[in-house]
Amino acid sequence: MSRSEHSFPFLEEPARRTPVRYETEVLVVGGGSAGVAAAVAAARNGADVLLVERYGYLGGLATAGLIILLLTLDDGRGRQVVAGLCQEVTDRLKSRGAAYFPPREEWGSSDESKVRRDQRWGLLWGHGPHRVRYSVAYEPEDMKFAFNQMIEESGARLLFHAWACDPIVEGECLKGVAFQGKSGRFAVRAAVVIDTTGDGDVFAAAGCQHESEEVLPWLWFTMGGVKDVTAAIDAGAGCFRTIGAGKVLFPWGATEKLSRRIDATSPEDLTYAELECRKRVMAEVDRLRREIPGFEQSHLCRVAEQLGITESRRLRGRSVLERRDMDRSYEDAVAVTGHWTRAGAIYQIRYGCLLAQELSNLLVAGRCISVDHRVHHATKEIPACMATGEAAGTAAALAVRAGIDPPDLDVGTLRARLGEKGAILS
Ligand SMILES: Cc1cc2nc3c(=O)[nH]c(=O)nc-3n(C[C@H](O)[C@H](O)[C@H](O)COP(=O)(O)OP(=O)(O)OC[C@H]3O[C@@H](n4cnc5c(N)ncnc54)[C@H](O)[C@@H]3O)c2cc1C
Repeated sequence: MSRSEHSFPFLEEPARRTPVRYETEVLVVGGGSAGVAAAVAAARNGADVLLVERYGYLGGLATAGLIILLLTLDDGRGRQVVAGLCQEVTDRLKSRGAAYFPPREEWGSSDESKVRRDQRWGLLWGHGPHRVRYSVAYEPEDMKFAFNQMIEESGARLLFHAWACDPIVEGECLKGVAFQGKSGRFAVRAAVVIDTTGDGDVFAAAGCQHESEEVLPWLWFTMGGVKDVTAAIDAGAGCFRTIGAGKVLFPWGATEKLSRRIDATSPEDLTYAELECRKRVMAEVDRLRREIPGFEQSHLCRVAEQLGITESRRLRGRSVLERRDMDRSYEDAVAVTGHWTRAGAIYQIRYGCLLAQELSNLLVAGRCISVDHRVHHATKEIPACMATGEAAGTAAALAVRAGIDPPDLDVGTLRARLGEKGAILS
């Protein structure tokens, strides 16, 4: 376990002057699926936007984490509940031949052969009886490309290789965020900040209330050159089809394989998990080649660059969505999601789940929004992250235009704008 902060000695640092390298109306911190959606939505709604990402690509877990399944865009009864930017990126992937999903007329079908087909793609989870769902398997490099295109076309500015470290707080206002790059520390001043870091780095460092979970890390990987993918899956190889002939995706997890859960914000815990998971993935690859028919001539394509972290920090915001909110309607809902393991279940995500209590100009989107542990199971999924990102970005732009803080925005106006842009809210 990492040592408690209080047990360390401290170094005093001299006060320092930090250059303000950028000024922007909307600052989006973290370029995962939620951050991309937030930045694109804010820019398309007329705001000056800067998106800052610590690595050199977009998508976060949805690309470098090899979590390459959009689960799900429907309610499990054949009705689409997530559209907007998530539908747009799906269309872009489809046009490049980089996505598989069942056609609309099959959603909700209980035809056994279609259900079995989509189980092989990893699109159906949870207990049966199953029905075909609107979920999407895709190629991660095409997703990175699609996200790059969407950001460029939107007019949002993008900055890679800068790590958000210190929010600059004055009273109830976030004046901006300080970042660390290789060339030094610099600040971005913004009217509204959106925390889409997945781990809530901005709201945590700004002192906002939040909850934290320790998790077992995952590390997904892909293999190619598999002789008969369908036969291998049906023989129990533990993998899914993925885009590309002879390729499979292993949703490999550490559940019961690692000796302990980790705090995904602790460098010590992450180092332990990176080493252990990569060691175990290689042992699994060797076993597959040795023991599983069809894998004799197979090769490792990719191991996820990023550990699969389902949960770390969650905001405790102005509203907290709880399990009893399932299937409830809210007039202040700004996004809707189905449930990937519970067909028929719906959550309407309230605007207050994206708003920090303590700060007037901080929005949060993606897997660290204000929900309880059970609801997080649904709202952490990529389509839901994109829907909350789209809502946060739209809210930020509308607030900036109106010259007000996001909590003062009329939710009816926000909902109307989201609807005009293609989001589904009811
Ligand atoms: C094992 C596993 C299986 C899953 N299965 C599925 C599935 O099948 N289907 C599905 O839809 N969802 C699935 N999920 C959930 C989903 O992948 C994630 O919850 C979702 O991708 C999170 O998106 P996000 O944008 O909120 O966060 P992330 O993808 O984590 O993006 C955060 C981004 O912020 C950047 N960042 C972080 N900190 C900083 C900082 N301080 N400064 C600058 N940048 C920073 C990161 O580099 C990253 O790009 C799964 C998750 C896991 C872990």
